[in-house]
Amino acid sequence: MSQPADHFKKLVAHCKEYGFIYQSSEIYDGLSAVYDYGPYGSELKNNIKEYWWKAMVQMHDNIVGIDAAIFMHPKTWKASGHVDAFNDPLVDNKDSKKRYRADQLIEGAVEKLQEKADKEVEKAKKRFGDSFDEKLYRETNPRVVGYLQKATDANNRMNAALTAGDMEALKNLIEELEIACPESGSRNWTDVRMFNLMFNTQLGNIAGEEGKLYLRPETAQGIFVNFLNVRNTTRQKLPFGIAQIGKAFRNEIVARQFIFRMREFEQMEMQFFIRPGTQQEWYEYWKSMRLKWHLALGTPAEKLRFHDHENLAHYADAAVDIQFEFPFGFRELEGIHSRTDFDLGAHQELSGKKLQYFDPETNENYVPYVIETSIGCDRMFLALMGHALTEEVVGDDEGNTRDVLKLHPALAPVKFAVLPLKRNEDALVNKARAIFDTLKLSFPGQYDDTGSIGKLYRRQDAIGTPYCITVDFETLDDDTVTIRERDSMAQERVPVAKLEEIIGKRVDMKQLFV
Ligand code: ATP
Repeated sequence: MSQPADHFKKLVAHCKEYGFIYQSSEIYDGLSAVYDYGPYGSELKNNIKEYWWKAMVQMHDNIVGIDAAIFMHPKTWKASGHVDAFNDPLVDNKDSKKRYRADQLIEGAVEKLQEKADKEVEKAKKRFGDSFDEKLYRETNPRVVGYLQKATDANNRMNAALTAGDMEALKNLIEELEIACPESGSRNWTDVRMFNLMFNTQLGNIAGEEGKLYLRPETAQGIFVNFLNVRNTTRQKLPFGIAQIGKAFRNEIVARQFIFRMREFEQMEMQFFIRPGTQQEWYEYWKSMRLKWHLALGTPAEKLRFHDHENLAHYADAAVDIQFEFPFGFRELEGIHSRTDFDLGAHQELSGKKLQYFDPETNENYVPYVIETSIGCDRMFLALMGHALTEEVVGDDEGNTRDVLKLHPALAPVKFAVLPLKRNEDALVNKARAIFDTLKLSFPGQYDDTGSIGKLYRRQDAIGTPYCITVDFETLDDDTVTIRERDSMAQERVPVAKLEEIIGKRVDMKQLFV
C-alpha cells in the first residue's frame, strides 16, 4: 500500500466489499455525499458511539445525556446565527460548470506553494549532503523565501476576507494566485457568492416563511434550548455538561472524500457549562481529555495534532481542531470551542426566557459560559478504518498476503468467529455450533464453515475480528480449541471453558479508561 491515494482507494473499496459502507440508493446510481452503513459498518459505528458516550457521560458524574429532536423551532436558528451566518463562499467555473468552495481553492493553492518550497529544500539537501543547513536555507534562499512569503500572504488575506465577508477580495485572490479549475483547466470564474448550508422543509399546515423548518445543521442547539429543563430536572450544579449524539445535515457545496464530508452525518457533541472567567482552564482540560480519548485507541500520537483556528467563528473566543492525518493530509476530526455565553445569551434574548444560573457560592445570577467538544462520528469512523486497514505479507502456511483490519478489539464489529476444521463432519459442526451458542450470549460473533480454514481466517481478518476459534478432532477428545489472535496470528491451544475469559479481557471497553 504505497501511496496514500492508493490506500484511500483501497479503503473505499474495502468498505464496500466487506459490508461497512455503501453509497446511498446505489441502485438508482447513488445520491451524492450520502452513505449507508452496512452490517459491519453499523456495528462499528455503534461501538464508536458507545465509547464516546461512556467516556463523556458514564465517566463524568457531572455530564448527562439527552436525545433532542432533529426539527426545532425556526427561531432557534435565527438566535444561533445559522440563518444569517452559516454560509460558505462558493464560486463556479463557467466552462466546467463545477462549483467549488472559494476558501478551499485558495487553501489548495497555498498548500501547493508550500510543497514547491519543500521540493526546493529537498533538492538542495541532495546537492549539499551532510553540510546542509535546512533552517538557514529556508530563511535565505530567494526562491524558497518567495514561495513561503506568497503562501503566508495568501493565507492571511483569505482569513481577513472571510472574517470581513469580503467576497470580492476572495475573487481577487483566486485570480492573483492563477487558480485553474481542476476539471476544465480554465480560469473562467464567476463572482464569489455566499451560500447558506442549511436544508429546509415546510411544516405541514403552515404556508410560506412562517412554516419554514430547518434540518438541524448541528446537534448543539438542542442542548442549549434544553439547558433549563436539564438543570431543573437533574439538580446539576456548575460546572456541568450535557451530551448528545445525533444526525446533522449540511448542504455542503463540495462534498468529496467519501464519508469525510457528507450532507447527512452524525455528531457527538458535549456542551460544558461553566462560570464566566474560568473558560481558559476548562478549555485546556477538555483539549487534554479529548486527545487522551483518541490516544487510548492506540492511534499513534504523530497522526494527531492540535490546530488553532485563525478565523474564529462568531460565537467563539478560542477554538482548536484535533486534526488527524487522513490519506489526503491532516484535516479536522474534532473541534473544541470556547463559545462564551453567546448561545444561551442569544436564546435568552430571542425567547424572552431567562437562561441563567444562580451561583450559591458567589450569590450571583449569570448566563453560563460554555466549552464545546464536537466530533463527527463518520469522520472518526474514517480515521479509524484508514489507520486500521493494513496489507501484510505473511508466511506460507497462511497464504502470501492478507488485508487485516487492526481495529482496537473493543471497537471491532465482530469479537470472535468459530470455525470447524471440516464442514461435513457432524461431530465437529455440532461441537462448533455449541461453542458458538455459548459465546454469543456474551459477545457478537460468527459461525462460519463455508471455506477452507485459510480462507475463513482471511475473511475474519478483513472485518477485524480479534479472535478465530478452530474446532478440530482433538476438541472432541479433550475439549480444547485453537485460538488465533488477529494481529500476531499467534495460535494457542486453550480449554473451551477459558474462551469467554480470554475474549472478554481483550474486548472490554473498560481497558480504554484505565
Ligand atoms: P469543516 O471545516 O471540515 O467543514 P466544521 O468546522 O464546519 O468542519 P464543525 O461545525 O466544528 O465542523 O462540526 C464539528 C464536527 O462535525 C467536525 O469536526 C466534523 O468531525 C463533523 N462534521 C462537520 N461537517 C461534516 C460533514 N459535512 N460530514 C461529516 N462530518 C462533518
